[in-house]
Amino acid sequence: MKPSRVVITSYQVGFGDCFLLSFEYPDEKRHVLIDFGSTGLPAGVPKNRLAEIANDIAKRTDKQKLAIVATHRHKDHISGFATKKQRPSSGKTIADLKPELILQPWTEDPQLAVDARGPLPAGHSLAAHHVSSLAAMQQAAGAILSEVKRMRYHSSLRPELSFMGENNLANLEAVENLAMMSPNREYACAGDKTALEELLPGVKIDILGPPSIEQSEKITRQRSRDQDEFWHLMANAASALGPTKAQKVAPLFPDFTLDRIAGRFPIDARWIINQAKRLRADQMLRLVRILDNVLNNTSLILLFRCGSKSLLFPGDAQIENWSYALSQPSIRAKLKKVDLYKVGHHGSLNATPKSLWELFDHKGGDDNPDRLQTLMSTMAHKHGDEERHTEVPRQTLVQALDRQSTFFTTQSLKENELFHETFLELS
Ligand SMILES: [Zn+2]
Repeated sequence: MKPSRVVITSYQVGFGDCFLLSFEYPDEKRHVLIDFGSTGLPAGVPKNRLAEIANDIAKRTDKQKLAIVATHRHKDHISGFATKKQRPSSGKTIADLKPELILQPWTEDPQLAVDARGPLPAGHSLAAHHVSSLAAMQQAAGAILSEVKRMRYHSSLRPELSFMGENNLANLEAVENLAMMSPNREYACAGDKTALEELLPGVKIDILGPPSIEQSEKITRQRSRDQDEFWHLMANAASALGPTKAQKVAPLFPDFTLDRIAGRFPIDARWIINQAKRLRADQMLRLVRILDNVLNNTSLILLFRCGSKSLLFPGDAQIENWSYALSQPSIRAKLKKVDLYKVGHHGSLNATPKSLWELFDHKGGDDNPDRLQTLMSTMAHKHGDEERHTEVPRQTLVQALDRQSTFFTTQSLKENELFHETFLELS
């Protein structure tokens, strides 16, 4: 048994990802939902958008087999799985579909969860150490977000800080719902076999990332010291940012304090106060950017192969996650043949490594009958900035996608349009 066609439904979730792959077999369809989350919807899109999408997924997969892939735990990939806060609850609708399998990266394995606040017991694996570091960093994101909410002073960094803080919160509701909705769960790393292959006869699935710590010295080497120590250092640095508003800060030079006069500091002190606040906002932003990259690099990278067609879904994997797969000749050979590419990390600067893009044999002009298709789910002006050339989606990448592939971006959907469908014959 093998499927004759796959339909890829790209949902409009604003800044986030939600793709439903529906494989068409002779007598039935089988589905894989890859991510379901949003951090911000375009103006005009109804606020109950995630509930609408969940209902559409329920309609399309009714009484058929469904597997769920949650590439990583960022809000913009899993918030649709949350249950309690959302009414009606998109997460409940999805859980009611009783998915056959939940596939997540190894960093989500609850066996590795340890109390992030205390020191790890001796003999704990490096992997557990890594996971607890992630949890500590997410707590730091929470602390930063609550401080940003109280920022009274004007800071140009504020929108990005709020977005990054929010996206990096722990999303516990969604994580718990994912853990509850199916007895069959897999926490995979690069090279693992997946039961998804049993669910999709005739389809081969390669897991290309994330690498385990042992697999990728590269990720470790990327940091100047032990990666985990580094993250802990960063988490500690976040708390060292100092006491929050509720606690008073003791003056550094008690004999030289300035009092406010009529609610304002003397004019000669205002400049330095503004500089200090600016510096603090800047430090917080650096911390959440590090966490953001680290979490993106826990993304599952999946390659689906069926007949002569290959589909690549890399979540938000960035260069460090990709390096492991790209270092292997056998994987590079498979990547050459990709027919459909879900653009990594909403079109960011470093999630479509140039060496990956160069590999794709099917890219080219629109006279190419087997032309590469690319799908991008994104929303401009949420992530990065144009001055630093880190805007998402990155203009130069969008131009390359547009020139050399049949390119779709969710930004082209109108506010009342729920999805875009791509059909791929699997002969
Ligand atoms: Zn994302």
